[in-house]
Amino acid sequence: MIPVSRPWLPDKKRLNYYIDKIYKTHWLSNDGPLIKELKYRLEDYLGVTNLLLVANGTLALQVAYRTLNIKNKAITTPFSFAATSSSLCWENITPVYVDISPQTLTMDASLIDASLTDDVSAFVPVHVFGQPSNITNYEHISSTMGVKVIYDASHAFGVRFNNSSILNSGDASTLSFHATKLFHSSEGGAIVFKDKNDYSRARELINFGINSISNISEIGINAKMSEFHAAMGLAVLEDIDFIMASRLELLELYQELIAPLLANSYFNSSNAAYAPALFKNSEQRSLIEQTLKKHGYSSRRYFSPSLDTVAAFNKNNTIKCPVSQDISERILCLPLYSGLEKEHVRRICRIIESIL
Ligand SMILES: *Cc1c(COP(=O)(O)O)cnc(C)c1O
Repeated sequence: MIPVSRPWLPDKKRLNYYIDKIYKTHWLSNDGPLIKELKYRLEDYLGVTNLLLVANGTLALQVAYRTLNIKNKAITTPFSFAATSSSLCWENITPVYVDISPQTLTMDASLIDASLTDDVSAFVPVHVFGQPSNITNYEHISSTMGVKVIYDASHAFGVRFNNSSILNSGDASTLSFHATKLFHSSEGGAIVFKDKNDYSRARELINFGINSISNISEIGINAKMSEFHAAMGLAVLEDIDFIMASRLELLELYQELIAPLLANSYFNSSNAAYAPALFKNSEQRSLIEQTLKKHGYSSRRYFSPSLDTVAAFNKNNTIKCPVSQDISERILCLPLYSGLEKEHVRRICRIIESIL
């Protein structure tokens, strides 16, 4: 079975180069030398500052909300992975869903005003599949109304906006370095803060709230990344240009072979994080999913369900997002990873074409 994504494994010798360092220092966690090196290398590669490495992308979101004092309600998108919403609920922040635009699959800026009540303290937009959110709009609302902006940028590693890293937008942007993401450290994540003071506070928060003179300055959590995870991250980072280039080639092939036949596709993301294809209706999507499976190809319903339909997240079920619900029924992410042979992409496209 060809999977939808396959984690990149770096050359074992290269990984060992970093693991050997761990064996020399016996330093396994707590801001060790590999964490420091990965932080600086990522800041350099991405073109950002104030990057804090954490244990995963979900904790990155939770720690970002804490650091920025987000309370009550946050406006967010229903079209994302569950963690965007569950992280809010876990911090006792109520997600307020705003429907998405069918063109970009990000929150529809023209619908935001209606949900922007006094108890909304943040926006949590997602650069879903690497498509930039409506940043100019959030910056405007943020500066005029004092609402904080935290971008869930889990899909936006390496994406640029206005000649700068997209991670430089908002009060904070979070990344996930989970095994299935474009860049990974097995498990891991990061927060990029605009403000150096926020970065410094978050650094204490992820280490039980212990400050530089070993006092407990506030309630913290353990959200540190380990040295072994940093070793994997450092080894993978050496391959990132190759990883991205090979994925872009496959995405271009999908674009060339089937994009014109689809209801819509989102094959134009600059970092080739996913290959999302939109079909005519739920029945067609289901038929294609089943037929691909019969031929040995997995596909994934990213993202389904639409999060506004999840009772645990949207308790009173007052907000409905018809566009997101419709897209969730019709979308499928197709196999895309470094090492996937082009012949498989051609075969997948022929199968889809025969059904369409
Ligand atoms: C993967 C992902 C997360 C969660 O990241 P983890 O590292 O798995 O905790 C959050 N948001 C989005 C949009 C994701 O795709």
